[in-house]
Amino acid sequence: MIAWLKQKLDAIGSPSLDWIQVETTTHCNSDCIYCPHTIQHSLWEKRHMSIELFDRIVPYLKYTDLIYLQGWGEPLLNPHIFELIETGKKLGKRVGFTTNGMLLTEKSIGKLLDLGLDIISISLAGATALTHNRIRRGTDFEKIITNLKRLSRIKSEKKLTKPAVHLSYLMLKSNVHELKKIISLARKIAADQVVASHPALLLDSRISEQALFNHPDRAAAWRILLEEIKTRAASENIVFAYRDPEPDLDFKSCTENVAQACVLSVGGEICPCVYTNPSLIGKTPSNQTPALYHLFQGQSVPLKPVSFGHIKTRSLTKIWNLKEYVDFRACFNPERMEAGPEVRPDLPACCVTCYKRLGL
Ligand code: SF4
Ligand code: SF4
Repeated sequence: MIAWLKQKLDAIGSPSLDWIQVETTTHCNSDCIYCPHTIQHSLWEKRHMSIELFDRIVPYLKYTDLIYLQGWGEPLLNPHIFELIETGKKLGKRVGFTTNGMLLTEKSIGKLLDLGLDIISISLAGATALTHNRIRRGTDFEKIITNLKRLSRIKSEKKLTKPAVHLSYLMLKSNVHELKKIISLARKIAADQVVASHPALLLDSRISEQALFNHPDRAAAWRILLEEIKTRAASENIVFAYRDPEPDLDFKSCTENVAQACVLSVGGEICPCVYTNPSLIGKTPSNQTPALYHLFQGQSVPLKPVSFGHIKTRSLTKIWNLKEYVDFRACFNPERMEAGPEVRPDLPACCVTCYKRLGL
């Protein structure tokens, strides 16, 4: 009885978050050239999130606005994905996910629409088949566009305004010029929003060389291009948001909104972001031997797992309020970071070498 009451009180005290990101699977049907799933294939642990594990977080979603079913993997491969969406919708939450777009069939789209999915974001890395298919290997640009036209048709047949369709464009030196075509493409498939971002985890020198932010001499020209696209998008009622081509060395936060959001990993760990806990064979937060190295400002640095607790052994409320997690989040409070060195928290090692804390 006391345990039951404690759990109820704990659920009432659950944190008020902008979103909880849930890594529904680490299986993927693509081999994008920049992704740890591809580059570290031999180390990659493929798992689906079970309903039992997802259910552990359900009591603590009370004050969370959005459940985003996304990690390193293709969410539509999880055999329970529709049940997970249904659970979120029954709680009255907004639910969304990002997909590579390859599994958007008549049947899956029908189900997603019937469940009331709020946001679907489609990953692109080019506005032509030649470019996109070279970078997002294993996907097919023409098929994705056909699938998105199908989504748009079924949505209008059902007279639905949801889900909002977003295009998530990964900018590289070799594909940034194709962003010029993205607004007409967005119009064709009735997308509401285009977001252009950078690869944050540079796992080899080839990808590092492709990152816009590693070419400061070209940043001004790229910025002009991106602003032109933004103006054009606005004239067509499409939101176009982009990350600046240059790091902001004075940035005092993290673009992953870690102070107001968290990630439930496929294994059940509560982490600040997807970058701190990729699903690697035999790696746990307590096993601190780095399995993965990435490039940061030209140096090879280890990627150590970070987790603040497992959802099977502690509630989200308790994990969120742990001193170490509170201290971690303080590092992303611009006011605290502006303070003198005696009160300024030390940035965790994983964040010191992360481009997301430089506004990228
Ligand atoms: S679709 Fe996503 S998870 Fe799959 S390989 Fe590409 S980036 Fe990685
Ligand atoms: S700065 Fe830290 S919390 Fe933010 S994305 Fe990078 S590793 Fe994650």
